[in-house]
Amino acid sequence: MTSNYYHSQKLFSGLIVCGCCGAAYVRKYTNIKNSDRPIWICGQYTKYGKSVCHSQQIPETILIEKVKEVLGLPEINQTIVQEHISRIMVPEHNHLIFELKNGSSVDVFWKHPSRRLSWTDEMREAARQKTLMRYRKEEKL
Ligand SMILES: [Zn+2]
Repeated sequence: MTSNYYHSQKLFSGLIVCGCCGAAYVRKYTNIKNSDRPIWICGQYTKYGKSVCHSQQIPETILIEKVKEVLGLPEINQTIVQEHISRIMVPEHNHLIFELKNGSSVDVFWKHPSRRLSWTDEMREAARQKTLMRYRKEEKL
């Protein structure tokens, strides 16, 4: 592996932290057929299963989409991710907390693509308001 290896395989490595057991998330393919749809999942969970951790897998497409939203950028790469994001916490299912290098943190809620219809505008607005409040609070500090 060379230093200019900017494949998406490394995009989030070491960045995503499991809120359940504290382990780092790793990249996996759910099966051969889905080789173009990688997911990220708790490293402990993949080794020992539900007995040690009941965290949730997250599709990589969702992570990329949410990073673009949080940073307000049309495209991202490993350099951008490393410049802007210190950590991505997974406190509970369908909830991510992006801790940014500028000191702010952003709550992000997501749904699995197959269940996206259940994501209502109210929930989206509530999440947005929460984010704005958090930003305002940090501006005062
Ligand atoms: Zn875990």
